[in-house]
Formats: sequence, structure tokens, C-alpha cells
Amino acid sequence: MDDKPVALLVEDEAQIRRFVRAALEDEGWQVFEAGDCRQGLMAAGTRQPDLVVLDLGLPDGDGVAFIADLREWSRAAVIVLSARTLESEKVRALDAGADDYLTKPFGTAELLARARSALRRQRQGQAREQQSAVVRFGQVAVDLQAHAVTKDGRGVRLAPTEYRLLAALAKHAGRVVSNPQLLREVWGQHSIDNAHYLRIYMGHLRRKLEDDPAQPQYLITETGVGYRLAVPL
Ligand code: CA
Repeated sequence: MDDKPVALLVEDEAQIRRFVRAALEDEGWQVFEAGDCRQGLMAAGTRQPDLVVLDLGLPDGDGVAFIADLREWSRAAVIVLSARTLESEKVRALDAGADDYLTKPFGTAELLARARSALRRQRQGQAREQQSAVVRFGQVAVDLQAHAVTKDGRGVRLAPTEYRLLAALAKHAGRVVSNPQLLREVWGQHSIDNAHYLRIYMGHLRRKLEDDPAQPQYLITETGVGYRLAVPL
């Protein structure tokens, strides 16, 4: 029986390919490689990977276009590798459907931790779709169908905007959601430049839901990029 998780690595630098392949194989992944977008999309079609590790700077095109294409037909988890410190690049990749990102240079431990959690999320996401839409973290439960939030079993009163922000994060639990995506989902397209709304309303949510709002365990800031609802896996 061969139930190894399958990873597809799309990266044009041979040295990084060797490093990532060795790390993932040590952890029991079956790894396939591609050196550019075109080969990568073909390999994704034939290998049906659970995870795609994707460099954003590829010789024949933009990694972001790759993600948009892949997302039309594949549910593979996508971790992007970016040499650029440009946050806008990561935001574009997340908005196109990437799950997570690593900034080069990164170490084996970080890579494997992200790969493990991406795989778990991807598998749980598939299971969750058939179950009820309740997202739990700490003592908090968010019922996305009933629009109800409880902490320690007691109802929490949230303003409509607070609820919409929490629901937007809960729907993507575990993933980084970019600032523009949150602003668009909660306040609408005309507000995507108003990042301060997010700081204010995340503050409200932390005060109502975190045990220690100054040191949030669940409503996590991804500096310059967005926010993540950290859920236990
Ligand atoms: Ca590259």
C-alpha cells in the first residue's frame, strides 16, 4: 500500500530543488520536480499532488498566474517560495489561492512544519465540507451557518462587522488571509486601502475572544501581509 503524500516542486534553481526534495523525502513524501510553469502545470495534472511547493520567479512566467490556473481544477495545498521581500508579491500569491509562503532563505524545519500543516489543512478541509461548519479555537466556537459565536459555552455578542471579519478568517482557518482580501470581503472593494479598519476590528475581536488580548494565541497578525486564524490541527 502506497499512501505517501505527493509533493510537486516547481523551482528553476537546481540547488533549492535538491534541498527541498531531500527534506521532503526524509519526511516520507513522494516528490516530483518541474523547472518552469509549463512543466509544472503538466506535472500537476498527471501527478495529482497533495502539495505544490512553488517558486514565484520562474523562467517562463509568473508563479501567481500558475496558482490561478491550478486553482481552477486542483485542490492541492500551495506553498510559495519567494526570494523577494516584497510583501505585495506574497499578497498577490495568497489572493490567487496560495495557502502559505516561505521567504528565501528558509530552513528544513520551517519548510517541513509548513508542509505538514498544509497537508493536514488540505485533508481536513475536504472532510469539513461534508460536516457542519463550526470552527473551534481555544474555548471559542464559530458556527458559520447559525452566525453564532460562543466562548466557554456562552454566547458572545459581536457587532455585524466584527462577525463578518471573524467569519472571513474562520472560513480560511489556518491560512493567511491577505489584508486586501479581508477588506474586500468585510467592507467591500472600495475599502481595500483602509488597512487601519483591520487593526481596529482585530483589536475588538481579540478583546472579546482571546484570553490575553495583548498576546493573541489565535487571531494572529502576519506583519505587512494579513491575518491568520490559528486553529489547533
Ligand atoms: Ca527562481
